[in-house]
Amino acid sequence: MEYRIYDNKGDYCELTDMLDCRERRATLQHELLSAYGKPIISFSMNIAGPVKNSPMIRRASALGNRYLCERLRALHIPVLRHVSIDEKTGCEDMYVADHDALRLKSICCDIESTHSLGRLFDLDVLDASGRKAERSELGLPPRSCIICGGDVRLCAGSRRHSAEELQARTFQILKEGLDEEDRAYISSTAARALLYEVCTTPKPGLVDRANCGSHRDMDIFTFVDSVTALLPYFGQCFMAGRHSADQPPRETFSAIRGLGAEAEGHMLSATAGVNTHKGAIFSMGTVCAALGRLPRELWGDSSLVLGTCADMTKGLVREELGDLDPSEAKTSGQRLYSLYGISGVRGEMEAGLPSVSETGLPVLEEGLRRGLGPDRAGSAALLAIIANSVDTNIIARSDLNTQRRIAGELSELLESDPYPSMEKVSDLDRRFMDMNISPGGSADLLAVTYMLHFLKEKET
Ligand SMILES: [Zn+2]
Repeated sequence: MEYRIYDNKGDYCELTDMLDCRERRATLQHELLSAYGKPIISFSMNIAGPVKNSPMIRRASALGNRYLCERLRALHIPVLRHVSIDEKTGCEDMYVADHDALRLKSICCDIESTHSLGRLFDLDVLDASGRKAERSELGLPPRSCIICGGDVRLCAGSRRHSAEELQARTFQILKEGLDEEDRAYISSTAARALLYEVCTTPKPGLVDRANCGSHRDMDIFTFVDSVTALLPYFGQCFMAGRHSADQPPRETFSAIRGLGAEAEGHMLSATAGVNTHKGAIFSMGTVCAALGRLPRELWGDSSLVLGTCADMTKGLVREELGDLDPSEAKTSGQRLYSLYGISGVRGEMEAGLPSVSETGLPVLEEGLRRGLGPDRAGSAALLAIIANSVDTNIIARSDLNTQRRIAGELSELLESDPYPSMEKVSDLDRRFMDMNISPGGSADLLAVTYMLHFLKEKET
């Protein structure tokens, strides 16, 4: 199925629409000035061509307005009134702000020049008497043309650039600016999910806020260092997904393999050689790339996201673990697969991470709905994942029987007590440490569970 990532469809505006719009704006400004007697900031989008509003334009406008509001709030500038218009002639927002008009203009010019979409923002400031504040009063040059960088008034006056050229450039700025916003959001959300995972306490056998679990060579700071080093990688995976969105899903997966190897190197440098997130590089990287293939409005649809991961990794188990004879197996993954048909995280991914969609996510979200914090809800989700999947990290430090026994025991416990108390989980923690086992594979899936949960909460 194909999705429209860059949706710039909208109604055509006639000249009369634009004249009506200008008149309505003037009337509204006049009303606000006489009601409040304070300066007005007027935010609209500078869009070339007959389509002045579309899903892309609307979102760019929303991001710009959010940024403006954040700036005003940070500077303690009171907004007395906010009026928002969303019509085919475009999005327009007016703010009555209790502050000096020229200082407001200076903030607005700064937003126009620093935001990734700022060249398309048009922020006018009227003072209390209705006079427009000018850039020249701040000693600033005129705004520059989006094509040649020259004085925009001269280019517009002489029709220096064709309408097609201006429209194409406008679309390109929208596309790049929105991609940049999405990339930054995905990399920070992936990092947030990994930090939530390591901070969730207690977790049996794993590094958390209370102890280092069954590990001697890492603690919570090692994880913070590793997550920080991996942050750009998640954005790169996302962009790889975006750039290959119209190609078959396997192409996206091929595109992130090299990035994963590079990220592993960065992780090892940051942790002095300790493997904190090798599994997460694979699973979270795949999820971020899948998100790149999907339009933002669909990121909250976890089954679609995980289904895309499955499409991207179709055939992976056969390719990498293959039909090897146990004697030919080189890695522990190959050995487990050839002996017992255990396909580990590759098999999980190829099946669309069922232990996340059917177990981790419902358990986490039900726990949060019941008012439990991330420690209780997150550790319950982790236990449920361990119980309902084959964690090869547990097998690696013990054996298959131990893994099966633990999964069975946890299933039984969760059946009667789906959200075990901190004391019960701490008891499990001590037992796992005594056995020197660590369910690292399940921990990676808990991080993915947090990620999908955060994506369901997001807005613009
Ligand atoms: Zn120009």
